[in-house]
Amino acid sequence: MASLFEKDIMTIKGVGAKRAELFRKLGVPSAGALLRFYPRAYEDWSKIVPIAAAPLGEICTIRAMVLRKPSEQRIRSGMTVYKVTATDGVSDVTVTFFNNRFIPNLFQEGKDYLFRGKLTGGLLRREMSVPEFLPAEAGIPVRPVYRLTEGLPNKMVINAVTAALALLPEQIRDPIPEELRERYGLCGLREALEQIHFPDSVESMQEAKRRLVFEELLVLQLGLFRLKQRTREGSKAVLQKDYSEEFFRLLPFSPTKAQVRAVREAMSDMQGGTPMSRLVQGDVGSGKTVVAAALCYSAVKNGFQAALMAPTEILAAQHVQSLQKLLTPAGIRIALLTGSVPAAQKRMVVEGLKTGEISFVVGTHALLNEGVEFLRLGLVVTDEQHRFGVAQRSALAEKGDHPHMLVMSATPIPRTLALMIYGDLDISVLDELPPGRQPIDTYVIDSEKRPRAFGFLQKHIRAGRQCYIICPLIEEGQGDMASVETYAAELREKWFPHARIGLLHGKMKAREKDAVMESFASGKIDILVSTTVVEVGVDVPNATIMLIENAERYGLSQLHQLRGRVGRGKEKSTCILVSDAQNEEAISRLDVMRRTTDGFRIADEDLKLRGPGDFFGAKQHGLPSLKIADMWADVEVLRQAQESAREMIAEDALLENHRALLAEVRQLFGRMGEDAMN
Ligand code: ADP
Ligand code: MG
Repeated sequence: MASLFEKDIMTIKGVGAKRAELFRKLGVPSAGALLRFYPRAYEDWSKIVPIAAAPLGEICTIRAMVLRKPSEQRIRSGMTVYKVTATDGVSDVTVTFFNNRFIPNLFQEGKDYLFRGKLTGGLLRREMSVPEFLPAEAGIPVRPVYRLTEGLPNKMVINAVTAALALLPEQIRDPIPEELRERYGLCGLREALEQIHFPDSVESMQEAKRRLVFEELLVLQLGLFRLKQRTREGSKAVLQKDYSEEFFRLLPFSPTKAQVRAVREAMSDMQGGTPMSRLVQGDVGSGKTVVAAALCYSAVKNGFQAALMAPTEILAAQHVQSLQKLLTPAGIRIALLTGSVPAAQKRMVVEGLKTGEISFVVGTHALLNEGVEFLRLGLVVTDEQHRFGVAQRSALAEKGDHPHMLVMSATPIPRTLALMIYGDLDISVLDELPPGRQPIDTYVIDSEKRPRAFGFLQKHIRAGRQCYIICPLIEEGQGDMASVETYAAELREKWFPHARIGLLHGKMKAREKDAVMESFASGKIDILVSTTVVEVGVDVPNATIMLIENAERYGLSQLHQLRGRVGRGKEKSTCILVSDAQNEEAISRLDVMRRTTDGFRIADEDLKLRGPGDFFGAKQHGLPSLKIADMWADVEVLRQAQESAREMIAEDALLENHRALLAEVRQLFGRMGEDAMN
């Protein structure tokens, strides 16, 4: 099986250079990859309808006997029509094909065929144009439907997969040890591959799927365990002394119990001899930054360098600002390194990190740049980790000699699941909000009530508060600047002639964004009209109203993040969701927002309503993307796979007796897997 991954897709019968290119586009460069190119759905041809009863214009399957040899008629040059007349015993149907000279040989008089397509025509004369068809004697299939690209129809993929299956050697070594297959009742690899592509029945397809899901999750877990072991190698960054108490005294408030606990857990990691790999999970506003800052402070005081990586320039700039305020009295200077920092300053920062003169740096992806080197990097913090991949978080760590690693996430997921997904991390949970927070009131309104909502905003602006309005119709990156600007202009003219309105969208230069954010944070802007770029992390406690236009367009977790921008100070905050959506799903989604502000419950509901696929898109967790497993639906299999992986690693840490699995781990994790295995 493994060797089939070395067989170029061109070795498959019927795949020439042109089609090979299309297959590569689908991420299928080899025969092996084609076998692992699982169908995205299945067509069940078993629901056969009588011709007379079939609904017109909808795809259906009929079974009919061919009455006579197909007729052939040239209607104009370059166009030949083939007609096949068939009957199901009650009604007749005329099936039409064009320019396919093989048709006369594909049908035999007196034989039954299955036809799948759209029926048209009158009561007496049913027709089907260019349907898919199969001889009925071949059995009634559950047919695979593949992800396609233009120029590569499903039928062609089916043929190629059939040819690839024929290449499987008689004896294939199953990567899953027999003992495990027996324990969990999993079918063999050959059967799984055959049945996932061309199932005999729905049940056998499900069995094949369960086995392949197990295999994929086993490989994922093995990879994560390996990563965790690697990071357990000796750390040179042992912190001798815990300075977190000293840091807490710099704060204008007392830390919550949860913050103190998380800091203590992380400190005990960093004072031991192995590098920390820890995830801090906490709902929006739970104060993760304080935890990170306490740890960076301790690292710096112990003579190490600390680096904090944020997903956006706005967030990085804001972290520097708030941390600088705290740490200036302690004599610690924080450097900022982002793409838009002026070149001269950038050079100074890079130089300072190399010589060790700078001990604390906050930045974006720019920190990952090749030129950036550290003298003695002791701690790496990644904020809003779901915006980064596993690879990126370790890329920053690789700039030091096994530094400690802390990742912070506001994507709330149940602890048991988090443990499995973040197999390579220990977890601290901030399950408590800072005191004095008032719950945010949430209203769902339709656009007719917008004037009243604007009146409400007006009142609060007069009282000195600030508001966010998340603009309709704009998706980040699409750069629909005009509509943000038009929308803002209308607000200015029609609704808020006296308010100071600022604009923020993805297409602005980072420096412009920073300037706007800065004015908003310092109270020079009353209303910030923005796209979802403010979604993560931004903290302006005086902003108390979040109005979201077209709220139905966003996922619950995203709405929760957006709403988390308010309710950060002592004043009562309000979230207004504007939506004219009529469909039930959207209405119930918005209703969840109205009923609860608990991120964990919202994540749960999000799953129930949207399905796991969306929630666990690679974007959310940064893991390698999986082909078949879906972690929520397959949580039982995930548990089994995790247990198996743990056993295997305990016995055979290098996977020397499980070469085939090792190869799969490398494939799934790409270059990272290689590193982890060395
Ligand atoms: P998040 O967990 O969403 O990243 P932040 O770290 O941005 O949250 O903190 C949210 C706000 O709460 C900030 O304004 C911060 O100063 C404040 N904060 C954090 N911890 C406390 C605390 N223990 N008491 C009072 N306010 C706090
Ligand atoms: Mg944050």
